[in-house]
Amino acid sequence: MVVCTNGFTNAVLPQLNIEPARGQIILTKPIAGLKTKGTFHFDEGFYYWRNIGDQILLGGARNADFEAERTTDLTGSDFIRNRLVEFLHLHLNTNQPIEIEQSWSGIMGFTPNKLPLCETVSTNVVAAIACNGMGVALTPIMAEHVTNLLLQ
Ligand SMILES: Cc1cc2nc3c(=O)[nH]c(=O)nc-3n(C[C@H](O)[C@H](O)[C@H](O)COP(=O)(O)OP(=O)(O)OC[C@H]3O[C@@H](n4cnc5c(N)ncnc54)[C@H](O)[C@@H]3O)c2cc1C
Repeated sequence: MVVCTNGFTNAVLPQLNIEPARGQIILTKPIAGLKTKGTFHFDEGFYYWRNIGDQILLGGARNADFEAERTTDLTGSDFIRNRLVEFLHLHLNTNQPIEIEQSWSGIMGFTPNKLPLCETVSTNVVAAIACNGMGVALTPIMAEHVTNLLLQ
């Protein structure tokens, strides 16, 4: 069995000490004449955004309240959503009001040493978790590690 529960791992394998870290996202309504095109990050990557056509997809601000974001609750919070909207008002050069079309959140899984965890936890059970917010990039390598462990 391969356990891939990521930020939710404490519920099934608490001994691995995986820390949940919520990442919240907002998507604006279309902004006429939007000039921002491309992908961007700011503040050591704690804010990350891109345009989708004439809308902005912006995530982050977890560093505004690490403690509250150490959660598996997917609801999200007005505090972080407001920080994200404030960020847009501050940095986006637009005369029109910025309105939010959608917001959602996801849960990352962090290890104390910030390295992904891929190991045999008991007979025939491998944990492949905690990509520390980099799972999209690291998944192919993680999959190779899992395969190697299972073939041992
Ligand atoms: C806002 C945000 C932005 C990100 N940006 C990037 C980025 O730019 N680049 C990058 O590389 N990575 C990024 N990541 C990280 C990346 O999304 C994750 O590392 C990746 O999704 C991890 O994949 P996973 O399959 O290991 O875990 P997840 O996608 O978290 O999947 C875990 C699954 O386990 C399920 N589960 C949990 N508990 C149980 C249980 N008890 N029983 C059964 N199922 C269970 C959950 O429902 C979920 O489907 C970002 C994450 C977030 C939240």
